[in-house]
Amino acid sequence: MLTNCTRKVGSQLRRFQSTLVIAEHNNEVLSAQTQSAITAAKQLGGDISVLIAGTKCGPASEALVKAEGLSKVLVAENEAFKGSTAESLTNLILSAQKQFNYTHIVAGASAFGKALLPRVAAKLDVSPVSDVIAIKSPDTFVRTIYAGNAIQTLTAKDAIKVLSVRGTSFAPAALEGGSASSEVIAADGCATDLTVFVSQELSKSDRPELASAKVVVSGGRGLKSGDNFKLLYDLADKLNAAVGASRAAVDAGYVPNDLQVGQTGKIVAPDLYIAVGISGAIQHLAGMKDSKTIVAINKDAEAPIFQVADFGLVADLFKVVPELTQKL
Ligand SMILES: Cc1cc2nc3c(=O)[nH]c(=O)nc-3n(C[C@H](O)[C@H](O)[C@H](O)COP(=O)(O)OP(=O)(O)OC[C@H]3O[C@@H](n4cnc5c(N)ncnc54)[C@H](O)[C@@H]3O)c2cc1C
Repeated sequence: MLTNCTRKVGSQLRRFQSTLVIAEHNNEVLSAQTQSAITAAKQLGGDISVLIAGTKCGPASEALVKAEGLSKVLVAENEAFKGSTAESLTNLILSAQKQFNYTHIVAGASAFGKALLPRVAAKLDVSPVSDVIAIKSPDTFVRTIYAGNAIQTLTAKDAIKVLSVRGTSFAPAALEGGSASSEVIAADGCATDLTVFVSQELSKSDRPELASAKVVVSGGRGLKSGDNFKLLYDLADKLNAAVGASRAAVDAGYVPNDLQVGQTGKIVAPDLYIAVGISGAIQHLAGMKDSKTIVAINKDAEAPIFQVADFGLVADLFKVVPELTQKL
C-alpha cells in the first residue's frame, strides 16, 4: 500500500517537474555535452526546456529545436554573452528561473558547466550536485567522488536541483525528430562588470575531439620527448583516433595541456583507449577507466595500468608501436 502510494506521489512529482538544460555551443554548433545533458534531463522526467545564450546563435538554436523531447528552446542574444562567461550567464539563468520556476537546472560537466553551475547554485542558495553519472530518480543521483575512486549515491533535498552531468555517462540525444517551440527571452541586464571577455585561442586539429573520440591513443613519460609523440600520431592516423597524454607528459612539455587525460584533465570513455608508456597512476585512471576496451603498452610488467587493462603488452614501446602502426 505504502509502495503504491509512494509510486503515485513519485509520478505526480514527475508531472510537475521541469528541467532547464543550459546549452554549450559556439553559436554555430552545439557541444556533444549539451546533447548528453538533454539525455540526462529526459531521465529526470517532466518538461524540458533548453536555454541557449550567445551573440549570433541562430544556427545552434535551430539545431536544438529539432532535438527530440524538448518543449521549449529559450534563446537569448546579447554581446554580454560573448565568451560565455559564468557571470553574465548566471544573471540570465536566474531571470529564467524566476520566470519559469524550474525544478532542475542541468549542464554538462565540462569546463563550461564547472565554471557556471556552482555560481548559479550559490545564487539560488542550493547545493550543486556535480559529476552525475546516473539518475536514479528526480532527486537521487549517482556521482563520482575522490577522483573517480568512489561512487556516491545521494538524495538532494533542495527544492531546485542544480546538476552537472558527465558526457561519458549519457549518450548524446539525437538532434532530430523533435519540434520544440522557440522563444526569445530578454537579455538586457545580464552584462556584468565582474569579468570582461577579452579573447580566446582555440587549438585547431583535424583529428577527432579528445573528449568524444571513439578511439584514443595516449602517451606518457615513457615517450621521453615531444618528438617521439610522432609514433603515437602515426598510430592515431591509422585508427582515426584522438591523441591524449598523461600529466607527466604534459608537464614535461612533450604535448600541450589540452591533451591531458585524468583527474585534472579530460574525462574520456572511448570504445578503445591505448595507453602507451603510462604507468597508470590513480589520477590518470580517473580520466579513462570507463573506456570500453583498454590496451596498455608498458615495459614494466608491474605497472598499475595493467590492472585496468583488457589487453596488455609488456614491451618496449619504441619497438612495438611502429610495428603495430605498420601492420594496421
Ligand atoms: C592532484 C593531482 C592531480 C593529477 N592529475 C593528473 C591527471 O589529470 N592526469 C594524469 O595523467 N596524471 C595526473 N597526476 C599525476 C599522476 O599522479 C602521475 O604522476 C602521472 O599520471 C604519471 O604519468 P606517466 O604515467 O606518464 O609517468 P610515469 O609514472 O613516470 O610512468 C611512465 C611509464 O612509462 C613506462 N616506460 C618507460 N619507458 C618505456 C618504454 N621504452 N616502453 C614502454 N614503457 C615505458 C614506465 O615503465 C612507466 O610505467 C596528478 C597528480 C596529482 C597529485
